[in-house]
Amino acid sequence: MQPKVAVIGSGFAGLSTAAHLAKDGYLVDVYEKNETIGGRARQLRTDNGYVFDMGPSWYWMPDVFEKFFEDFGYKPSDFYHLIKLDPGFSIVFGEDDVVNIPNDPIALDELFESIEKGSAKQLAIFMKEAEYKYNVGMKKLVYKPGLSFTEFIDLDIEYWDKRLLAPSSLIFYLGVTKKINKLQHHNLFFDEDLKIHADEIYRNPQWPSKPLFYVCCTSKTDEDVAPEGHENIFILMPLATGLTDTEDLREQYFEMIMNRLEKHTSESIRPYIDYKKSYCINDFVSDYNSYKGNAYGLANTLMQTANLKPSIKNRKLNNLFYAGQLTVPGPGVPPSIISGKVAAVQLRNYINNL
Ligand SMILES: Cc1cc2nc3c(=O)[nH]c(=O)nc-3n(C[C@H](O)[C@H](O)[C@H](O)COP(=O)(O)OP(=O)(O)OC[C@H]3O[C@@H](n4cnc5c(N)ncnc54)[C@H](O)[C@@H]3O)c2cc1C
Repeated sequence: MQPKVAVIGSGFAGLSTAAHLAKDGYLVDVYEKNETIGGRARQLRTDNGYVFDMGPSWYWMPDVFEKFFEDFGYKPSDFYHLIKLDPGFSIVFGEDDVVNIPNDPIALDELFESIEKGSAKQLAIFMKEAEYKYNVGMKKLVYKPGLSFTEFIDLDIEYWDKRLLAPSSLIFYLGVTKKINKLQHHNLFFDEDLKIHADEIYRNPQWPSKPLFYVCCTSKTDEDVAPEGHENIFILMPLATGLTDTEDLREQYFEMIMNRLEKHTSESIRPYIDYKKSYCINDFVSDYNSYKGNAYGLANTLMQTANLKPSIKNRKLNNLFYAGQLTVPGPGVPPSIISGKVAAVQLRNYINNL
């Protein structure tokens, strides 16, 4: 008889687990509390023709997607087509102070040199180290279940002590009935002090005084996400978890962000908005049962890495395993996909040993 498995949650991790177990011949049911699948990576389709990705907008660790599809005899291009953006992204440092990051490495070196002599060499050293760390992580760390210290006894792991932020977010999904020329696909607003905003997220949690924010304009690349001649705009402002979240506060920050966005683009945008939805701490809690409204799970500190993350295996029920951004290897779509596979392997081992 085929063993039955229940997967709770249809985020990338749950779907990855379900797909791997179904391929192995298990009878899998996926239970999802929301009306659509995808979890934090769901889509929001509006009646007036916009399609928003509710969460992720950065495609990273492409090898993980390739490996996932390969497990089922496919490749990513069987399902979607990737377009390499140029510029890859744009950073706004201030009025008329915008740096467009080119996708060509030689042009990137030239850009660095134009900003600071000798920095291209430093960039090359940084990239070499990053490549080394990535390869160590991929080969020795991320596909392990993190159940014991001995799996990780390896000096290379000391490279994994870098810290990443895991805040909540205030998000706006906007439909705009005209094109906004000065926006790129990815736009990072670093026109205020990063240290102050980071401090207001972690050390002194509060609504930020002068927030940094990110604007993704997917309609620059994909014509299917907005009606012709319109823009699809996603705005994200990182925010401390567990704060009071009210409509008034959201509106206050909407006006603050739009003032800066309109100034940067030299265009009036607010009168052209024909779709607007905000999303914040209260929504993360009610939609995903997210603790304190976190958007990305745990911060990636050394003390929360690998087997120091919440365990993939339940301590009381032998046949209950966890997958997803809160457990190994960590937050993000690719790690969640890996996590789903790791949990599936653990469950299969458990059943085979019964
Ligand atoms: C705003 C935002 C931007 C992001 N940007 C990026 C990015 O650019 N690139 C990237 O790689 N990652 C990004 N991430 C992170 C990435 O989206 C997540 O790490 C990943 O999608 C998490 O997948 P998951 O399956 O672990 O969890 P989730 O997606 O949270 O899935 C869990 C699922 O379980 C369901 N559920 C919860 N409780 C129950 C219950 N009791 N019964 C049934 N179902 C339940 C939830 O509804 C949800 O569907 C972003 C996340 C957010 C929020």
